[in-house]
Amino acid sequence: MRWRRSISPEENRGTLCISSQVGCTLTCSFCHTGTQKLVRNLTAGEIVGQVMLARDDLGEWPKPGEPKEETRLVSNVVLMGMGEPLYNFENVRDAMRVVMDGEGLSLSRRRITLSTSGIVPEIARTAEEIGCLLAVSFHATTDEVRDRLVPVNKKWNIATLLEALRDYPRLSNSERITFEYVMLKGVNDSDADARRLVKLIAGIPAKINLIPFNEWPGAPYERSDWERIEAFADIIYKAGYASPIRTPRGEDIMAACGQLKSATERARKSAREIAAEAGIG
Ligand code: SF4
Repeated sequence: MRWRRSISPEENRGTLCISSQVGCTLTCSFCHTGTQKLVRNLTAGEIVGQVMLARDDLGEWPKPGEPKEETRLVSNVVLMGMGEPLYNFENVRDAMRVVMDGEGLSLSRRRITLSTSGIVPEIARTAEEIGCLLAVSFHATTDEVRDRLVPVNKKWNIATLLEALRDYPRLSNSERITFEYVMLKGVNDSDADARRLVKLIAGIPAKINLIPFNEWPGAPYERSDWERIEAFADIIYKAGYASPIRTPRGEDIMAACGQLKSATERARKSAREIAAEAGIG
């Protein structure tokens, strides 16, 4: 779970990034979490618990005359931590219903964003049963590259995914879909990629979030150069799409986007390594 303050320091609010699983079954090749096997799905209580814990840590509990939603410290929630939320659909849905309920945490559905790698059969269900905003880990403009980066693309390819996404804003009554695009040097960051991306999503109300790659030990990719990221953003911007470049945060503690891996797994691994070096185990 990660909380980040709004970009503007005078605005005292922030977005909380929460997880839906411990580990992940998908093996997106740029993602550190993807190197950790699925340990288990989180329960609905554990998912809501992440929001409660953050509010508790920030001392944000309801008082008479409680601040309005937009001025809360935890003003937005994104399901972008560990795991694929749509592979734990029922628990995520039940948790988000508690977060949205007036008798629960009372956060509007427009302040919740669920990020999926593209589990097509569950996309319409997300619109109907949760109705939150949707983000998609897109990351590539050809099936050949996306098969490598997001292997679930072999099951539901770009064309199938885009078809499901086209219906989402109408079904969920939300304004636009966020396309997440991690910038990998020499892999998906060319001008041709930017132009193809714009063509592919034509007609879908969208925002494109460019994410400079956060490196992790043994990662098979490098972050695109800043000039390349800016040139890519420029093509998208000129085509009429908002294209913010996400500021990397949390890299120093390996807690940035795509770097999450559970501490227990890391601890277990280092214990194994120590034991191997000592000739035991
Ligand atoms: S990017 Fe998301 S879906 Fe892909 S391996 Fe990482 S946590 Fe799983």
